[in-house]
Amino acid sequence: MPADPAPQRELFASRPAWEEDDAREGMIATVVLSEGVDKPLDYLVPPRLAASVEPGRRVQVPLGRGNRRRLAYCVAVRTGELPQHPLKQVAAVEDDKPLLSPRMLELTAWMAERWLARRGEVLEAVLPAGVRLKRRVKRVPVLVATGLTPARRPTPAQQKVLEVATQPIPLDELLKRAEANRGVINRLLKGGLLAEQGQVIREPEPEPAEPLPTGSEPPTLSADQQQALAAILTPLRAGRHETITLFGVTGSGKTEVYLQAVSETLAHGRQAIVLVPEISLTPQTCDRFRSRFGRVAVLHSHLTPAERHAHWREIAAGRVNVIVGARSAIFAPAPRLGLIVIDEEHESSFKQATAPRYHARDVAEWIAKREEVPLVLGSATPSLETFARCLSGDWQMCRMPSRVGGSHLPAVITVDLRDRKTRAKGAISPRLAAGIEWAINAGGQVMLLLNRRGFATHVQCRGCGHAIHCPQCDLGLTLHQPGSRGICHGCGLVTKLPASCPECGAGDLVHRGTGTQRLEDQVRAQFRGIRVARMDTDTMRSRGSHERTLTAFRRHEIDLLVGTQMIAKGLDFPNVMLVGVINADAALHLADFRASERTCQLVTQVAGRSGRGPRGGRVVVQTSTPEHPAMRAAAAHDYEAFVRSELPIREALLYPPFGSVVRLVVRSLQDQAASDWADHLADRLRQAAGDDPAIRILGPAPAPITRIRDRYRWHLQVHGPSGESLRSLVRQATAGLKTPHEVAWIVDVDPVEML
Ligand code: ADP
Ligand code: ZN
Repeated sequence: MPADPAPQRELFASRPAWEEDDAREGMIATVVLSEGVDKPLDYLVPPRLAASVEPGRRVQVPLGRGNRRRLAYCVAVRTGELPQHPLKQVAAVEDDKPLLSPRMLELTAWMAERWLARRGEVLEAVLPAGVRLKRRVKRVPVLVATGLTPARRPTPAQQKVLEVATQPIPLDELLKRAEANRGVINRLLKGGLLAEQGQVIREPEPEPAEPLPTGSEPPTLSADQQQALAAILTPLRAGRHETITLFGVTGSGKTEVYLQAVSETLAHGRQAIVLVPEISLTPQTCDRFRSRFGRVAVLHSHLTPAERHAHWREIAAGRVNVIVGARSAIFAPAPRLGLIVIDEEHESSFKQATAPRYHARDVAEWIAKREEVPLVLGSATPSLETFARCLSGDWQMCRMPSRVGGSHLPAVITVDLRDRKTRAKGAISPRLAAGIEWAINAGGQVMLLLNRRGFATHVQCRGCGHAIHCPQCDLGLTLHQPGSRGICHGCGLVTKLPASCPECGAGDLVHRGTGTQRLEDQVRAQFRGIRVARMDTDTMRSRGSHERTLTAFRRHEIDLLVGTQMIAKGLDFPNVMLVGVINADAALHLADFRASERTCQLVTQVAGRSGRGPRGGRVVVQTSTPEHPAMRAAAAHDYEAFVRSELPIREALLYPPFGSVVRLVVRSLQDQAASDWADHLADRLRQAAGDDPAIRILGPAPAPITRIRDRYRWHLQVHGPSGESLRSLVRQATAGLKTPHEVAWIVDVDPVEML
């Protein structure tokens, strides 16, 4: 056989002679690094690892001149002739089993193409951190009362802990048995009354220790529900893929249809994935699944990595067959998948805002096609993307136009805020005030939606008109009480507000605009004696606070709930007789082509919280643009009328769903550097597009929020009729670019966030 070229022999002087003989043939592993090099790399698999290197497992490989070991995902293995250039060798195998099935590997390759993401990034996104880090066990300290005499009399809560801890007891059991919180225990530890005595290891429970009681018999379905269920069961039983959209008004019984479809899926020995926009906002939906099916993996954001890992293993082993979770639950490793449901499919939270910027709806469709299972999309306000697919006949649409159980959609009253007579003194117009009185007097409950948190939405100088801005963002500061703090909703910065105007020095700063805090104050002052609570990200920071507030509201311990869009989602409270929307146009004029769609969806959704009980209900919508199609449709409970008015506009402008958009955002501490790089990207894109008239490149321009955290932001948009050709254009234009170190930039395919 021909001798190896000399240079290679020098390089590999230490290679044993017997390996050299085989060197023309061998096993090659293609690996992807989670970060750094984006290109797949080939490595030689040494014979000792041949049995354990396989696609889906991770391996250790040497990288670069220094041959530093890096963790990488093995995505393919082949045996055959080796290339002319020498290959480095796989050094070790990390996992004893593949973490990713062949289907998941294929999915990640598709996702990387579809959203112009890095393959390594996608691989990391589909595997929960707990799985990647192999977090299995949790160590829990064992505590015991020391018997020391306390310096001060223990509180009753402390006393209880000390009583339970006379025998050594693991912390988690102690918390439960003594019904104590961590604070009480920490104080006792600090005071020396409680001491740590070793640790125990816990395999996390993949589900709540006590399964919820199984609910009553499922109700008999209405005709619309039956029809929708049949549309799902036909492909399910036939083992073929189909996408079915349940376009059902709020309270039309969509969730009941999902439940029965899941039940049938389980009867076939298959598994079901149910996606919801956000677990903490949909406790009722999760509870209904739990009480119907008992063993349900609820994948919420508060899980520890170890708990996530435990769920993942239970699902992969086929021991848990119902999976409920937010966006990333679509990657649950169900080996016998039979059904995917996406509830509230129009919600923008199904698009990930950070890389990889995938949309769970598209991922779900890919998986459902591949697995030949039905995909169910449910909403009272389907996205225009979904609507268009249904109108084209690609997807099936089942309409559920009325509420189940005889309740009616509430009457909607629109209050024109431009009209002096109807205008509010504060944030509450006389019509709305009358509505609140009516509902409370009738023993009902009220929800008020205001999509601005804080007290005042901006702080302005009465002398010169200057509005106080965040020092590091191009955003006005919002006033939060107590303490007159200025909070930036862009970066979260909290500052003390100045006493006088930083521009002209006048001491006359006024608090303009109403946020949820001020609204809460106003309600308390105006309607004495009623019990008020507020639900926004400020009041809902701690774990379980949503559920506590919602439970209190359900038990009618709260009469009136003030909240941001958090209160607009899937909640079902039969006693709500009035819903008020304080400022329906708040989001209507944002620089976003979806502004009217979002507004119509939000108002329709929140209106749907009213009148679910036998006594009916009303909705009062305060707006400055009552004639806007979004407002008119929401007031008439005719979302489809909005769709009919909006689709032609999108079509004329070639906006989604008729065209595709890719958005590029450039950030830098230096405005000029960001702008220069955005110019450069635009030039490259224009060059790549040539004189294709179908491609439009908008910008570069400063982004609507021009600066966040001291970083200047420029953006540009590329529009075109086909997503595929747009992506290849962007790929071509940005290939091999050397980004200057002072700028960072991202590519967002099918963006839902335009600010
Ligand atoms: P949606 O998901 O469309 O908002 P739900 O499935 O939550 O509607 O149904 C609204 C309410 O009606 C729930 O309390 C549910 O238990 C009840 N419900 C659903 N279907 C029926 C039915 N066929 N008969 C009686 N009650 C039903
Ligand atoms: Zn800021």
